[in-house]
Amino acid sequence: MLEWKDGQPFSARFSDVYFSTESGVEEKRHVFLRGNDLAQRFAALNPGESFCIGETGFGTGLNFLCAWQLFEQTAPPGTSLDFFSTEKFPINDDELRASLAMWPELAVQADALRSCWRHRVPGWNRWHFASGRIRLTLALEDVMQSLPQLRSGSVDAWFLDGFSPAKNPEMWSDEVLAAITHASHQGTTLATYTSAGWVRRSLQAAGFEVQRIPGYGRKWEMVRGSIPVVRSPAARIAPPRRALVIGGGLAGCAAAHAMAQRGIQVALIESASQLASAASGNPRGILHARFGAGMNVLHRFVLAAYGHALALLDEVLPVDGVYRAECGLLQLAATEAEARRIAKLATQEWPPHLLQTVDAAQASALAGLPMTHGGLWFPAGGWVVPPQVCTRLVKHPNITLSLDSEVTLLERTASGWRARGDSFAIEAEQVVVCSAHQARRLAQFAAFPLQPVRGQISVLAATETSGKLHAVLCAEGYCAPAVDGEHVAGATSSFDDDATDVRDADHAENLVRIATHMPTLRQALGDASPLSGRAGVRCSVPGATPVIGEVEQGLYCSLAHGTRGLLTAGIAAEVIASAMCGQMPPLPADILNALAPLPRMGGSGSVVTPDSTGKR
Ligand code: SAM
Repeated sequence: MLEWKDGQPFSARFSDVYFSTESGVEEKRHVFLRGNDLAQRFAALNPGESFCIGETGFGTGLNFLCAWQLFEQTAPPGTSLDFFSTEKFPINDDELRASLAMWPELAVQADALRSCWRHRVPGWNRWHFASGRIRLTLALEDVMQSLPQLRSGSVDAWFLDGFSPAKNPEMWSDEVLAAITHASHQGTTLATYTSAGWVRRSLQAAGFEVQRIPGYGRKWEMVRGSIPVVRSPAARIAPPRRALVIGGGLAGCAAAHAMAQRGIQVALIESASQLASAASGNPRGILHARFGAGMNVLHRFVLAAYGHALALLDEVLPVDGVYRAECGLLQLAATEAEARRIAKLATQEWPPHLLQTVDAAQASALAGLPMTHGGLWFPAGGWVVPPQVCTRLVKHPNITLSLDSEVTLLERTASGWRARGDSFAIEAEQVVVCSAHQARRLAQFAAFPLQPVRGQISVLAATETSGKLHAVLCAEGYCAPAVDGEHVAGATSSFDDDATDVRDADHAENLVRIATHMPTLRQALGDASPLSGRAGVRCSVPGATPVIGEVEQGLYCSLAHGTRGLLTAGIAAEVIASAMCGQMPPLPADILNALAPLPRMGGSGSVVTPDSTGKR
């Protein structure tokens, strides 16, 4: 909890200030920006290159905003900044607003940070600013959970800002400093306010050469340091100039978007005559983060994906009530198993902006219809029109679209890959395959256990009573509030079925689920039979963890998103685009490993580990 003491944001927990309001941003600039020579280093970047800052203690985000501002002032066009930070005790929305309101010169950056802040989730968050030029990776967890998950050699400069070592020695422990060194490379620098002797000695023991230099204003000293350069560093990975994306559903459109934002020329190839023609083509999709209390790797991935998806949607498809609504979502404790799962989740502490447990009376008020069960309330949940998400994602001058073009062969060339179809051949340095279960038609994916899963939705006519529903309801199946007099309810799940005919039996199944789990809604809907339906084919793999990452050199995939594509396509795109460009990944190494195609899909290639080489 942030408190105010003599007009300064203060932490009672650590009995220390977040920053000094007396000297303010100038002191930040002196210690962290000049302490790491950032103006010169930013200015020396070449187009296509990125720079990575790591920070211990995000606090109010003031350091981040200062670094972002300096980057825009000094770095050449075509360069980008990764800022990684970790924070165990995130401040709330009001505290962030009040703290950053003190710096009008950073108002633009502060407003942008605030609009993402409301989507923060425990664990890792990835947000973009300045049209994607600034990427923030914010691990909301203990420093010792997050830092060891960084790739070795991935950070160029450190801001050590975790309160004073006397007040918060854990942030300066040998383990933390060892993790910092591990994520550093020759030439990585650090800067910190503190000049405590034992911290200097620990930094030296961790491999940094340290130097005391004058602090800001009345502060006598601060410390800067660097890992000595003993041999010339390897070249940074240069982003590809051209890339292909195969598949124009959510996964492919998001991949194209993430690469285009990084300055890559992207050819997006789709076999159908329009985007979002398969599983991403439903008239409505719901934004639903479903995870269990155990928070295994898949659940942590889903949570990170949810926070990322909400922020990405704000960027490309802001809430407008037509293509997207942030009406909230109720996950009903309608079965015993679900009630147990929810009760378990409720024992953990969740930020109320993310989820709240509600009883039946509260659920009724939130839904607008009487509910027989309580459950979980996700205030930022809602619905979107998925094809519109696809359209918006690919609206970028770096993306060219080839429809009616089925890729049947992927072959290596001297400089990358060639995708061939009946009447075309397109070449690029890198390829991302996002064609769901159809990827198996390509030799490189033939052995992947990708399964088609048919799903049918039903469009139901709203009645006067059902029209009162104003939140998405989920149990086994879901129903969205009516738009233009129509509800969308779904969805069935038939494994190993790739037919897209609309079936009465599937409509009946959707209605039975509503009747069983949302009986008051079923009553409100009356007897009318579904107006229409749509069947799409999703792609899944055993275990249901999507398959995201590099398959062989220059060949990536984003596959098996199952029913969660609306959430997971965006962060998958970030995983792939950042790997291609040698940038900070948006997820910790253990999640990246769980998603990686190899060796899970039967291959023998490398996986990302904290020990694998970073960008140098
Ligand atoms: N860089 C911040 C800014 O620009 O506003 C100020 C950071 S403040 C001095 C230190 C931060 O470290 C606090 O926000 C605190 O909650 C966080 N912190 C303390 N112990 C931590 C830990 N073990 N893991 C992660 N964060 C921690």
